[in-house]
Parts: sequence; structure tokens; C-alpha cells
Amino acid sequence: MNILLTGGCGYIGSHTAISLVNAGYDLILLDNFSNSETCVIDRIQKIAGKPIIFVEGDLRDSNLVSKTLKDNNIRGVIHFAGLKAVGESVKNPIDYFDNNVQCSISLLQAMIKNNIKKIVFSSSATVYGIPQYLPYDENHPTSAINPYGRTKLHIEEMLKDLANSDPEWTSIVLRYFNPVGAHKSGNLGEAPKGIPSNLMPYLVQVASGYLGALNIFGSDYGTRDGTGERDYIHVTDLAEGHVAALQFMFREQGWHAINLGTGKSTSVLELVHTFEKVTNKKIPLNLTSRRAGDLPAYFAKVSKAKNLLNWEAKLNLEDMCLSAWQSRKISIHE
Ligand code: NAD
Ligand code: UDP
Repeated sequence: MNILLTGGCGYIGSHTAISLVNAGYDLILLDNFSNSETCVIDRIQKIAGKPIIFVEGDLRDSNLVSKTLKDNNIRGVIHFAGLKAVGESVKNPIDYFDNNVQCSISLLQAMIKNNIKKIVFSSSATVYGIPQYLPYDENHPTSAINPYGRTKLHIEEMLKDLANSDPEWTSIVLRYFNPVGAHKSGNLGEAPKGIPSNLMPYLVQVASGYLGALNIFGSDYGTRDGTGERDYIHVTDLAEGHVAALQFMFREQGWHAINLGTGKSTSVLELVHTFEKVTNKKIPLNLTSRRAGDLPAYFAKVSKAKNLLNWEAKLNLEDMCLSAWQSRKISIHE
């Protein structure tokens, strides 16, 4: 069965491509390389052990998307493509609405034109906003606390309206928590351009000697050790979650929001200590002030994914840290 992966050369898309090929799907990847490199295609093909169809282009080009859907007899779409840096979205909000919301409209128009009504969408735990209770379950009220989150919420709601307008539509909105780690081969990983803003890629660069010390953003939160707590999930588990979501999508109808996390919270210091243990590297630390816009702590309620998708995360924090470290040669742009 042919599936289109928008943004398929990015961090989560490339890992999901491997899991989907292993599950027997045929893939078409569409990407404009705004946040990935062309060499990822070779890496995916090497690990997958078969050629993958690739289309270079921008999702906002609805004619190109429509032609891609038609020429490849696509049956369903996983929509990863988008911009994802919260700070950048505060500085350039219109770029985020253009690239995230406009891309999604263009994609959905092309899907409607080709009578394809099955989509899995990459959403984020950020749509829950300030926690009213924890763990966040899927019924927790949603609210956006920055433009990035607003684009995710907007797309979620568009998909809900679409599902309400036509019972043949199925939209699975996957709300990711904090994906980290890399494929076990060490040949795929998270390769941000410039200085990383996320914790794990920053940690990898400090351990490799490219950056001097890890700045810990806040050590006075009301958490176990004063540092921020998150629900880190191995990207390979997340990728497997997409296989389960795709299977669910083809047997269900309607709109479904599902958390993909582990259900466990880990503090910055706990993550650093686990990283030091598995890599045998000492990480120099700077305790600095809180980062604007950060929440103290949040984690997922994961029972809906277990019940509906029969999926749950299997890999632990040590697996996440070790695989991130083992992929360092392809994660750092020199
Ligand atoms: P990524 O930047 O590594 O991958 C996104 C891919 O989409 C890139 O390869 C980029 O070149 C491509 N792309 C962007 N705009 C495009 C466009 N207009 N046309 C075609 N291709 C385009 O990001 P990721 O970490 O793999 O995230 C994938 C999705 O998951 C994003 O929508 C992101 O918002 C969401 N998400 C990510 C995280 C995370 O921590 N990584 C957490 C929650 C949600
Ligand atoms: N963090 C940190 N130093 C860094 C990057 C992140 O202390 O250089 C902290 C951040 O404050 C948060 C956690 O690590 O508590 C996860 O941040 P990240 O940016 O990876 O993901 P977020 O949860 O913000 O999406």
C-alpha cells in the first residue's frame, strides 16, 4: 500500500520511514530540505534495503502534491512537514502560519482533489498549554501558548472540521511528547542546523567537545530536583507508533487525538546523569535562569494509545541517551 510522507527526510519522518518499510508499506517521501539534507535519502534506502521514491518540492505547491498523489496511487498520508522551533515562531509568526497552516491547506486540497481521505498528522503536547492537571490526557483542554502551538491547534481543528463534514475522512492527530535518540545503526538521527535549542542534541555536542557546557534553564522549579521535567520518548518507539496509527486509520473513521509518550517524567539532571553513565563522559554544567515560555513539568497519559493502537513505548532512557550519542557522527554539522 502506497503512503505519502510529507517531510519524510526530517528527524521523525526518516525514522518512521524505516518502521513503515519493515511493516510492508511502500513509501513516497516529499521534502523541500528546508531542515534536512539530501544524503538522508541514501541512508534511509541503505537501512531499509530497498529503493524509496522521493519527490523534492514544497508542500505549498498544491499541483505538485496532487500530481504526486495521483502518479503514485497514494492511499494515505502521514504529514510531518512543518517548522518546529518555538522561539523562531515567536520572532517570525507569519512564516509559521505560511509553512505549517498553508502547507496543510495545500496538502488537504490536493487530497480532496484525488479523493484521498486518510491522514495522520504530527501534532504536539504543546497544544495542551499550561497544565490544569497531569498527566495530560487527550481530554485536557487545549490552548496555544506560542505561534508554533497555535499552528498545530489550527491544523488539528481544520482536520476535525473536515472529519465532521464528511464521514469518509479519518484524521489521526498524534500528540508527540519529547522525541529523542536515534536509529540503532547510528546512521540516522537528529541533525539540527546551527546550535541546537533542544536538550539532547545540545548534550551530544557538549559531550563531543563542540560546545563548552550545558546550560540548565532553571534549577528552582517545584520539581523533584528543581530542574524541568519532560516525557522523553525514543524516536524508534515513536516511529512504531505511526505504524500502529496507520493500521488504526485504515479501519476507523472520524477524528482521533492520541498522545505518544512514555507516561514517565524525567528531569534535566536525571537525563544528564543517565547520559553520563552510558557514554562515560562528564558533562560540564551551568545552572542558568529559566528559559522564557518553558513549563516546569509535564508528561503524558498513555492509556488511549495502548487501548486504541495496541502500542506502547518499550525503550528506556539509557537506550535514548546511548543511541543519540552513537549517531553523533551524522548529527553534528561541522
Ligand atoms: P524536522 O524539521 O526534522 O522534519 C521536518 C521536515 O519537513 C524537514 O525535512 C523539512 O525539510 C520538511 N519541510 C518543512 N517545510 C516543508 C515544506 N513546506 N514542504 C516540504 N517539506 C517541508 O522535524 P521533526 O522533528 O522530524 O518533526 C516532524 C513533525 O513533528 C513537525 O511537524 C513537528 O512540528 C512535529 N513535532 C516534532 C517534535 C520534536 O521534538 N521533534 C515534537 C512535537 C511535534
Ligand atoms: N533545557 C535545558 N538546556 C538546554 C535545552 C533544554 O535545560 O540547552 C531544558 C528545558 O528547559 C526543558 C527540557 O530541557 O526543561 C527540554 O527542553 P527541550 O528544548 O529539549 O524540549 P521542550 O520540552 O522545550 O519542547
